[in-house]
Amino acid sequence: MRGIILLGAPGSGKGTQAKKLTVSFSIPQISTGDMLREAVKSGTEMGRQAKTFMDQGGLVPDEVVIGIVKDRLQEKDCEKGFILDGFPRTIPQAEALDRVLKELGKEISSVLSLEVDEEEILERLSGRRTCSGCGAMYHVRFNPPKTEGRCDKCGGTLLQRDDDREDTIRERLVNYKKSTKPLIDFYRGTGKVHAVKASGDIDTIFETISQLLH
Ligand code: AMP
Repeated sequence: MRGIILLGAPGSGKGTQAKKLTVSFSIPQISTGDMLREAVKSGTEMGRQAKTFMDQGGLVPDEVVIGIVKDRLQEKDCEKGFILDGFPRTIPQAEALDRVLKELGKEISSVLSLEVDEEEILERLSGRRTCSGCGAMYHVRFNPPKTEGRCDKCGGTLLQRDDDREDTIRERLVNYKKSTKPLIDFYRGTGKVHAVKASGDIDTIFETISQLLH
């Protein structure tokens, strides 16, 4: 069982690295952000409620995300492991995760803390683009597509996330520092935390992560 948690500020590269890890370990990425955006897109009641928090750069209530993750962890593709990307984001979520994992007979094997300077984070988030078709991620300067605005993999249109705008980014970073950063200390006691310098080249960072996990 490989249970990986990716911790880090918005824009620290959790999603990008999680996608690469799914390929090398054949375990799924569980991104609460992606699942919430899906719920918003399909217009479910939960999606409508979550949207009000997401649009303001706030956090969706703990009980909502805990429920989503608990359901997702019980799906068949999580039998060999999972990569949690963007969850837990608060201490109560981490405590609930402990309980859920115990109940399901699963466990966390590694917690990776992706560390990037705030200046670089702002630059990354403002230039970030996501494919509306397949979810692949790009950056207008650091990881541009071959054709502007088009996904290299599926030809889909590249969009900027609604919450990757300056005022919302600022609020998300405030919430990160207040609610999520304390999780590094929460997990430090488990001896499973690895700090990863996550500035610079995507493949080099992935190389570092792969070595830590082997
Ligand atoms: P992300 O894609 O991880 O940056 O998440 C986008 C937004 O979804 C966040 O700014 C929150 O509003 C919401 N969200 C995602 N994951 C969580 C979580 N674990 N707890 C609360 N809100 C979340």
